[in-house]
Amino acid sequence: MRNGDRSPVVVENPEGTGPFVIVCDHASNRIPEEYEPFELADDALATHIAWDPGALAMARRLSKRLDAPLLWPDVSRLVIDCNRAPDASSLIAVESEGRKVEANRGVSAAERARRLERIHRPYHEAIDACLERRLAARLTTALIAIHSFTPVYFGKARPWQVGIVFDDDRRMADLLIHKLEADKALTIGINEPYSPADQVYYTVERHAGPRRLPAVMIEIRNDEIGDEAGQRSWADRLVSILIAATPGLLAESYAVV
Ligand SMILES: [Zn+2]
Repeated sequence: MRNGDRSPVVVENPEGTGPFVIVCDHASNRIPEEYEPFELADDALATHIAWDPGALAMARRLSKRLDAPLLWPDVSRLVIDCNRAPDASSLIAVESEGRKVEANRGVSAAERARRLERIHRPYHEAIDACLERRLAARLTTALIAIHSFTPVYFGKARPWQVGIVFDDDRRMADLLIHKLEADKALTIGINEPYSPADQVYYTVERHAGPRRLPAVMIEIRNDEIGDEAGQRSWADRLVSILIAATPGLLAESYAVV
């Protein structure tokens, strides 16, 4: 990192004592100075190829209203995808939805290790530290990952306004799905548009799995949260569900460490 460059990891409201910790792996479309030029068409950095539009704004609203710590990497997923395992082939994408990412072609093993060391590792260590501090303080804790997805993917429209993504631990997923289903206007993606089989569950799996924390990944279609009104409406909806769920959900979830 050059002098004066921003930290690759942001932690907001670290002392929040609400029962949730929020992570937003694809919050930022920032390409740090040292990685420029990135040889992308001008508009690419504004699209989901570089980040999850609207996701950080949503995550911040949830963090504020639930008094939850929020952690996110302030680097585009094009440089390194923090929601991928270090050995995943998609960790440093050479192509995204048909667009070549020239700057990532031929990245050496040393450069791959360097990006892991400077961005991926500190991000995940910050999540570890946050969770361990809370567990030591016996704060009840569930993990929520906030993402957004594009309405059209490879020319195909996606019908879901929201996707709930989960693995074996269905505690939070079932509850969210059940409550969201009350709104008949919603089409809910159950492990859509992605599922853990697509290797997109890394952050949740890594941090919640071994600690047996209730966890879920919430994917919101980005046209739903493209403006403040949409973000407010989705935050209202999710906050009321999560607050109502808290007592039952967390009663049995004190840390097993
Ligand atoms: Zn994402």
